[in-house]
Amino acid sequence: MRSKFLVLSLLIMLRFKSLGSGSSGNATVIQARGGTSLTHLLVDCGLGIRQLDARLGQAGMLAEQIDAIFITHEHGDHIGCALQLALRERIPVWMSHGTYAALGEPDFEGLLRIACDAVAIDLGPLRVLPFTVPHDAREPLQVTCTDGSARLGVLTDLGHASSHVLEHLAGCGSVLLECNHDPDLLAASGYPAFLKRRVGGAHGHLANSAAAAIALAIQPRGLQQVVAAHLSEQNNRPELARRALAMALGCSDADILVADGPSGCGWLTA
Ligand SMILES: [Zn+2]
Ligand SMILES: [Zn+2]
Repeated sequence: MRSKFLVLSLLIMLRFKSLGSGSSGNATVIQARGGTSLTHLLVDCGLGIRQLDARLGQAGMLAEQIDAIFITHEHGDHIGCALQLALRERIPVWMSHGTYAALGEPDFEGLLRIACDAVAIDLGPLRVLPFTVPHDAREPLQVTCTDGSARLGVLTDLGHASSHVLEHLAGCGSVLLECNHDPDLLAASGYPAFLKRRVGGAHGHLANSAAAAIALAIQPRGLQQVVAAHLSEQNNRPELARRALAMALGCSDADILVADGPSGCGWLTA
């Protein structure tokens, strides 16, 4: 797994930090350096605005430093305060047309940008490539981001890995990867039957084993770092997600980071 020497390198160009992950709210900051300036993309905004401001502060940032927001889909744990934040800070917001329609086409006051599958978005030194995922939302997109050197994949909220998903993740050195549930915990949980079917279904959320299979599939293409994300509080345990990923990748459980609900993870180099 990733060397500490690389993490400490002054040549760091692409970094990311989860501000929170899971059904209580998802938000991830991606930072790219171009010369002396920094570009910040916020992927999802699934928190209240006070909480988002607080967590940005903990990350050493202000909301006004965000250059663009990308919303993956309309579920509340991803959209959160996106409209409020965008209007307050005058930040452009990218999302699919389906997501915009599912939100009821709110007035973004000219800040809305429509994202499409496999159409790149250039934000200074950062190139964002959205891709379609199988999830029970209107037109969900996840993203890879690159500064031309490192490549990061953000992949949460999908029921299974389509070949399209795997093609887009190929070449990512780092992935923030959904490990939603352990099937045995989900089966034994108090969730109603329809919800168990939805979460465990082909358009629901990834089980630990499915996430591990994705990591294994893209490992030969340069994967060095996996951060387990979007863990269910009821139907998963961090140690189960770590174990599944570590077994697939042939590394130590301790090499697998977990982005938790309230605090996400620290700044990481992609
Ligand atoms: Zn979600
Ligand atoms: Zn969702």
